[in-house]
Amino acid sequence: MSKILNILRNLFRPPLLDAKGIVQMSSKEEYLKMLAHAREKLPKILITGERFHPPDPEVVIEGGQTHIVNFREIGETLRRDLKLIATFLSKKLGTPYMITEKEKKLVLTGRIRPELIKPRLESFVNTYVICPVCHRPDTTLIKYKRSLILKCNACGAETPVPKI
Ligand SMILES: [Zn+2]
Repeated sequence: MSKILNILRNLFRPPLLDAKGIVQMSSKEEYLKMLAHAREKLPKILITGERFHPPDPEVVIEGGQTHIVNFREIGETLRRDLKLIATFLSKKLGTPYMITEKEKKLVLTGRIRPELIKPRLESFVNTYVICPVCHRPDTTLIKYKRSLILKCNACGAETPVPKI
């Protein structure tokens, strides 16, 4: 964000700024020109939006169990409750789970191939994180009565999603 502020500060440097820091424009044309110029200089990400890349699950098979060692990081990136993600994966993979006390690793019963885990995590992200209207990940999952609603903080869309 500070990068953007710097860009704006440069654009509004004196003599455009008066003593109170208010932008002084001599004409509407000048103002519009300045706006177009500012838009050009802004990082593209602000205008086009960025594709959301959650971390890939790091899978380690130990004995008869499958560990997702970066599960906490995944939960933090997706901003979703770990238990909710774990329940979803456990149901889709058809195996019980536990979450370790301290490191919050996800432990699934059985030896599960990593290539089975990734698409299911992606399916969770597509259904419970990404807004289907504007495709942004800035959403909140809300329990309303007996249903689950994905509320988008970017465009305001409210989308009912299947219960987990
Ligand atoms: Zn949206």
